[in-house]
Order: sequence, then C-alpha cells, then structure tokens
Amino acid sequence: MPSDGEDEYVPWVQQFCESFGHDYFVPVAQEFIEDDFNLTGLSSQVPYYREALLTILDYQVETADDDDDKKLPNKAILAHSAELLYGLIHARYIVSKPGLTAMASKFERNEFGTCPRYYCDGMHLIPVGSTDIPGSETVRLYCPCCNDIYIPSSSRYLNIDGAFFGTTFPGLLVKMFPEIENQCRLRIEKFNQHDFGLKLFGFKINELSASGSRMKWLRMHLKTDADRVEYDQCELKIPQLAANGDSIDDGGDGDDNDDDDKTMASD
Ligand SMILES: [Zn+2]
Repeated sequence: MPSDGEDEYVPWVQQFCESFGHDYFVPVAQEFIEDDFNLTGLSSQVPYYREALLTILDYQVETADDDDDKKLPNKAILAHSAELLYGLIHARYIVSKPGLTAMASKFERNEFGTCPRYYCDGMHLIPVGSTDIPGSETVRLYCPCCNDIYIPSSSRYLNIDGAFFGTTFPGLLVKMFPEIENQCRLRIEKFNQHDFGLKLFGFKINELSASGSRMKWLRMHLKTDADRVEYDQCELKIPQLAANGDSIDDGGDGDDNDDDDKTMASD
C-alpha cells in the first residue's frame, strides 16, 4: 500500500546516521549486518544482543513497556544496546572494502574537518578511536600529515564513542588510498623550508631555554639518501662495542600491535 509521505517509514540505520552528531558514520549495508561471521564475539559485549540486532534490522521487538515480562529490556535500554551494537558493527564495516570506500568518499568531501595545524595546510582529518573498547574514550580525528590526533571542534561529537571507528581504520585508509600520502608529501615539501621557531628581534631562542624548540625531529621527514644513511646510523640504543658494525638486532618500536591479519604492505 503506498504511503502518503507524511508517515513514511525510515529504516533504523538511516535514522541513526541522520541523527544529531552522527554525521561521521556511514550506513552499514544490510547484508553486512545479516552475515553472522561479521558479528562474531559481539553478543558478549552488548546487553540484549538479540533484541538489539533485530531493532537494527527493523524487526518489531517486544519491550518491557509492551509486556510486563521482567526479562525484556525497556525501550531506553534497548535503544542504547542497539546503538552500541551498531557502533561496534560500524567499526568492523569501515575496515571492509565497501565501508572503507564509503568512508573514503566522506574523507574526500571533507566531512570530518581539516587539521588546525597551519603547516598541514587544510589537510582533511580521519576519525579514529584511541582504543577498541567501547565506553573508554570519545572519537578523535587523525591528521595523516602531522601524524597527530585532535579533538573534534564541534561539541556535537563529544559523546561519540571512539571505538565505533576503531584504532585500525585510519592506517588502513591511508595505505589503501596512496593519494592521501601524496597529499601529505606535497604539503611536507611545500613547508619543509619554513620551520617555525620563536625568535626575539630576529635571533632564534636557544633550544635549552623554556620556550626553546623541542623534539623537532618528531616532525622531520627524510628526503635525501644522505638523510636516510644518517638516520640508519644514529644510535637510538645502547652503542655496540663491536667495531665491525655487527648487525644490531632490530628492537622495533616496542609497541607492536597484535594485528597479525593485516594484509597491507607497509612500504
Ligand atoms: Zn596536521
């Protein structure tokens, strides 16, 4: 029966994505939600998992308000569970091919905002969670140019859970779309000569003074082969006594993630 437009039915996922402050989210495809494989492990993280899943999929769910059964969730609890479940599915969806593509379009349209750092020259930001555990921290924005994270400028995002975007997503996006790295490279080349440092009447402030520049190497990018050689030779660990430059075992950076299933080449 055709509806008269006024009470047109809006699917739950669309409603969620259109509500206030939810504009970082992409709509997760129905097939993705219906595939049990994609939901592995979520049932233990979400209260009233089954009811929440049915809500997301637009099935009628009985709540305690309809029936006095104590085992049923009330509407508010069910709504919260459904949002939590959707958020966790969303974090998985955006690291799948269709989700990544949808987020890449949003990134391109600059829907996540631009980096506030002057030298990043309006680089588009990418949403990120600093942890994958829901309820720990709200969403942050990652700039692939300065490799730093920022708090969204609008307060509407201050209650969006970071775990709904996850820790893996920005890294995967940058690796899957090399043009993002290209955009960064252009900015780095453009601004490399102009290195900000405080000056007093034209004289640079000594690095050791309280307002002197610190840790400049953090934002340094190796450009020439000579730079690379220097980097390779610089000793970030206890110097070896062996004179013949025995291969020093690579300690790595110490915070290896246990993401064994990453398929991306990292070069
Ligand atoms: Zn930046």
